Amino acid sequence: MPTGKNFETHVEKEYLKKHPKSRALYERALKVFARGVTHDARFFKPMPIYCVNAKGSRKWDVDGNEYIDYWTGHGALILGHAHPIVTEAAVNQAKRGTHLGASHELEIEWAEKVTHLLPCAHGGLVEFTSSGTEATLLALRISRAYTGRQKIIKFLSHFHGWQDYTIIDYNPEFSPPLKGAFPPGIPEGTLRSVVALPPNDVGAVEETIEKGDVACVILEPGGASMGYLPTYKPFLEKLRKVTRENDVILIFDEVVTGFRDAPGGAQEHYGVIPDLSTLGKILGGGYPGGAVTGRREIMEMLDFKDEEEWKYRRVRHPGTFNANPLCAAAGNACLGLILKGEAHPHVNQAGERFRSALNDAFEDTRVDGLAWGTTDSIIYVGFGFSEEDLKVSNIQSYVEFQKKKSMNMEPISHLDKAMINRGVHPMGSRFILSIAHTEKDLQRTAECFEESLKELKSEGVLEKFV
Ligand code: PMP
Repeated sequence: MPTGKNFETHVEKEYLKKHPKSRALYERALKVFARGVTHDARFFKPMPIYCVNAKGSRKWDVDGNEYIDYWTGHGALILGHAHPIVTEAAVNQAKRGTHLGASHELEIEWAEKVTHLLPCAHGGLVEFTSSGTEATLLALRISRAYTGRQKIIKFLSHFHGWQDYTIIDYNPEFSPPLKGAFPPGIPEGTLRSVVALPPNDVGAVEETIEKGDVACVILEPGGASMGYLPTYKPFLEKLRKVTRENDVILIFDEVVTGFRDAPGGAQEHYGVIPDLSTLGKILGGGYPGGAVTGRREIMEMLDFKDEEEWKYRRVRHPGTFNANPLCAAAGNACLGLILKGEAHPHVNQAGERFRSALNDAFEDTRVDGLAWGTTDSIIYVGFGFSEEDLKVSNIQSYVEFQKKKSMNMEPISHLDKAMINRGVHPMGSRFILSIAHTEKDLQRTAECFEESLKELKSEGVLEKFV
């Protein structure tokens, strides 16, 4: 069993041997970036791989290694890397100008596609931002302005970007088990305006709403961290009922699930329609972009009106890169293909088969583990998890789930290295699929997964899970 000493296992030695140029770049990066990387999730010991190009389901690193990629642009690339139609649209637009300092037709087309695809946007309005984080921030502000109330409800472990309100994963009522989940740098007033509840606990939502001053509830409709901790349809239905009956705005953060679970996102998949949705990732076709969309009367908080009083009520939203033409061109091309039905249901069916292949690998190697996913095209693997563990609905089951999750940190990091050594790049414990992942890619990945489990078993890394 590794003791935390560096590069003890064969897997780690092999990883270092295969990536000398990545190691050299990481040493340079440490001189200019705190933690050496530019996104917390890309931090990886002993160093991350550095990539130079990507196409379809593949990418290549500076040491000349090829990978089947499952980061898939953090979920943005449902069409795969550098899809020719999206690339052509972006390149053509880049030649015509990346910022026109004016309104343009592409932004209208882009918004029309959003209102067409997403159920909550039918007959509604769209506001573009530059990222998913900005979209969730704006949705909360609009909700507060519209209702005149202060508080927001979020769920523990649900991720909505790095802005102050939703990065909070702390609730003093549940302390001490969750102590320390309150990140520094957030003002006290902001902390007090957010109530973080156990996932899937509709009773806790009702109690909090009864206390008053709740503007909105925001959640990842497919479950926390891209569906790692799943959400279930009956919960979503109850949540819809409770929020509607109390005039509380329901926000589905569809930054991940939008255009992925179904062309119309999780709301189409589950048949539950929120008041507002936030979008990002696939929306921009692999280029930066975000949006808030939903009911017209709520979105009209952004409108200008010739009323003296209105200027004190309206929500402001400037932003240099809002709906910039480059991202609008790429986003339009991507959503155009989704509208034509070129991504679904293919990507979902492939995901379903892939998930069973990973579960077969656990069984064949007699490793205690599970592959799951609330959307078919994002698959998780975890050691020591059972289907029962995924049914979190109160603080006790949440704390148990978190314990299992933390036991997975070290083995998953070894698994990733073993997979990378074999030419597969998982995103931690997650595999994100695109239409570019072929049956052969997925079969090869399942084989690598099984080989990796065997290797980790023989190295004693999975001691607790065999
Ligand atoms: N919401 C969800 C559900 C996300 O997964 C993310 C990013 N992974 C965000 C919001 C933030 O989006 P961005 O990284 O574009 O700011």
